[in-house]
Amino acid sequence: MRNTKSTQLIFDLSKKGRRAARFPAADVPVAPAREWLPAAQLATTPPPLPEVAEPEVIRHFTNLSTLNMSVDTHFYPLGSCTMKHNPKRNERFASLPGFADVHPHQSEETIQGYLELLHELQHMFGEISGLPAVSLQPAAGAHGELTALMVAAAYFRENKMNRTKVLAPDSAHGTNPASAKMAGFESVTVKSNASGYVDMEDLKSKLDDEIAVFMITNPNTLGMFDSQVPEIARLVHERGGLIYLDGANMNAILGITRPGDFGADMMHYNPHKTFSGPHGGGGPGAGPICVAEKLRPFLPVPTVEKVDGKYTLVYDNPRSIGRVRSFFGNVGVLVRAYSYIRTHGPDGLKSASENAVLNANYLLSKIKHIFPVPQGDRCMHEFVASAADLKKKTGISAMDIAKRLLDYGMHAPTVYFPLVVPEAMMIEPTESESKETLDYFAEVLFRITEEPADLLHEAPHTTLVSRPNEVQAARSPQMQWKLEPAAK
Ligand SMILES: *Cc1c(COP(=O)(O)O)cnc(C)c1O
Repeated sequence: MRNTKSTQLIFDLSKKGRRAARFPAADVPVAPAREWLPAAQLATTPPPLPEVAEPEVIRHFTNLSTLNMSVDTHFYPLGSCTMKHNPKRNERFASLPGFADVHPHQSEETIQGYLELLHELQHMFGEISGLPAVSLQPAAGAHGELTALMVAAAYFRENKMNRTKVLAPDSAHGTNPASAKMAGFESVTVKSNASGYVDMEDLKSKLDDEIAVFMITNPNTLGMFDSQVPEIARLVHERGGLIYLDGANMNAILGITRPGDFGADMMHYNPHKTFSGPHGGGGPGAGPICVAEKLRPFLPVPTVEKVDGKYTLVYDNPRSIGRVRSFFGNVGVLVRAYSYIRTHGPDGLKSASENAVLNANYLLSKIKHIFPVPQGDRCMHEFVASAADLKKKTGISAMDIAKRLLDYGMHAPTVYFPLVVPEAMMIEPTESESKETLDYFAEVLFRITEEPADLLHEAPHTTLVSRPNEVQAARSPQMQWKLEPAAK
């Protein structure tokens, strides 16, 4: 019997001659070897593929799929990532043949329904954000940031404004300064004040006529809604700059307020977060952007438009920044977002946000006496607790807690981000979780704080791999398996 938690590769299971399927002998002539291929390039022996029967294949991959945690198997309060339930209804719609089997070169007449969906979705995204001009092209949130900053650069170029700087608060996601750099801007950090909001004095000292864009996440990564944004927008606009809203935290404000109404000129959505697409190991994301009317001419092509009653992809736009993605974007994610939005309707989206905020506040109030939340008593859809006191007293770090949670069958919160909170644990329960799950999570957190520190430094104890060296895994990943001479 195989251990279901095994590091065996499918190659290790191979037995000569074993097959999942056997085909009858060909009853047509065998095609000759391709003469146009140089003989030296032709293999003389078949490739050493694993030889396994179907049950082994199925068990191998099914067992592998259970080695990671997922929203379908475990509570997953990974802050900033909005790991909400992925409704199976979305999957059913996305796998309809009219969506899933479409060829990207198919003629427009044959995909009118598909284009209609994308056209409607552009409209919905515009309505929810209060920014009417939409591109569905970018392939992830970070890609949306880059695309929007390129749109901004095109706008400044056309208006002959020499703008070089992009400002972002120190609590910003790392993608913000990275996108600024990639779009050719200098990235400037603005300090947060003790309450976690933008430090207005610091901002004012950095505002000049070189500012292109101020990027802000609102609610921010501390889970706090910065109500100074309209004032910030006034100051930035006065200098001719633009406001970018990082929309990763839209799950807190759907149907409650709109970025376009509180001062933003551009934003991205993360449909895989806010609109329930499976992500992380579960699938690709998307990063549609919404911009103000004056920025519309610079959006990437193609956009989906309705011309003479027919839906069509419009490429012909000389002021556009051009293409940022092949074909129409990551449409599978967009179909799921459409399904989610239509299923909920405006009131349903609003109540999803209200419940996300309620769940986060419930959890905050349950754990703050053990894990203080430096930025306050109330939060939006997530909050950042600190294990700094605990570490001082017992040596137990946020990392130890994160790792130990895996032993209790729960994914860890985001740790050590944002950088402005020491021993940060960023917790986002989402609206999908029940009170029982939240109570159990709080109880497990307390239980862990009572456990011996040594046990925690070595956690997790129940997973196949305990503590991989994260830096080495990222810096020199081994993505290949090499056939050992001994293996047959
Ligand atoms: C997730 C996230 C991003 C990046 O989005 P991706 O879709 O992962 O590229 C940017 N900013 C914030 C605040 C985020 O949480």
